[in-house]
Amino acid sequence: MRKQFPDIRFDESDKNLFQVDDPRLRADALRFSVLPRLHALLNEALAKASEVYQIDVMEDSIVFYSPHFRTNRDNELQLLYGAASVALGGKRARDGRWKGLKRKDSKIVQIVPFLFGFQLTAEGMTLQCRNWSIKLSDSSFEKFFRFNAEYEPLIQRLCHESYMRPYVSYGDSCKPISTYKQHYDFIIENKIYDLDFFSSGIFRYPITAEDPFYYSLADIVDAFVSFYPVYDSYIQLAKGENNRFEHLVEKLNDWLIRNEEKEEELTGKQEEETKRPSEEELLKIKQLAEQGMKVMPALRWQVFQRDKWRCVSCGRTADNDVILHVDHIVPRSKGGKDELDNFQTLCHVCNFGKGNKDDTNIRELRR
Ligand SMILES: [Zn+2]
Repeated sequence: MRKQFPDIRFDESDKNLFQVDDPRLRADALRFSVLPRLHALLNEALAKASEVYQIDVMEDSIVFYSPHFRTNRDNELQLLYGAASVALGGKRARDGRWKGLKRKDSKIVQIVPFLFGFQLTAEGMTLQCRNWSIKLSDSSFEKFFRFNAEYEPLIQRLCHESYMRPYVSYGDSCKPISTYKQHYDFIIENKIYDLDFFSSGIFRYPITAEDPFYYSLADIVDAFVSFYPVYDSYIQLAKGENNRFEHLVEKLNDWLIRNEEKEEELTGKQEEETKRPSEEELLKIKQLAEQGMKVMPALRWQVFQRDKWRCVSCGRTADNDVILHVDHIVPRSKGGKDELDNFQTLCHVCNFGKGNKDDTNIRELRR
């Protein structure tokens, strides 16, 4: 059984985090709040991908964090990061796993030069399938681009389905307005192995699980699932195996058709049972969503930092599969102020457990 979609959201305070000018606070917020939420989102996407494609999606991949906060921690804390990302990449392999690839210096290939995942910046969230410049031999790089050229029409359809766009380099001898097939052929011919796929700025704050007004996290998960066959093909090529692209696209089609049928059923039911929400109701939903982000950006992070990035009730951190919330001790409706002292860090489990029992100052109780 897969876990329930956790209560993840990315809102104005995440957006403003990228303007917080205290490097330590920004780095801690990325490490203890943003990256774990991105990871939870990726896990959600992976669970869905394995359901749709019926394969072990982690067989050859691991999850990469950027920034990774593992070594040179002091150095890392001096930097004001403009982005955070959590992405799949090929396992680092000293075992010759990537026998489909060769390096320029003919040493063993340890890293597959592609990452596929989510990046958060002040602008919003993007889905990315990025190409690293790693010193592979030309013939190794060429494989990926031959794959792109061969399946270009289908990959374009996947891009459309997942809001992705290919970004390719071109020089004088390739006109800007050419088909992507022509671009890929140009790349192969000129050995300029540069190609990234991005969803361009489409997922804007606030990004919530389901949202009637914006693209939601559910849409991002679906976009990941729809583009997954391209990443999978890169991995298979790196292993020196035939890609299973067309097979995965078949599975994707089955899933999309099932979804459509479900939606038709649902819309049918909804028309019978409920009316569409009125303008007034929609406005109310929007106001509720906005209330959630009224906590001043830096203040929110200061609450977390004061509480050491742990739920003050159960002590869990974002690493324990919980999402940290900032909770009003005295609610606004009872005159509670938006001040540091009136906030506490709660995990989503404890926060929902608290429900509307107001005035629960758990920090105070613990003392
Ligand atoms: Zn808790």
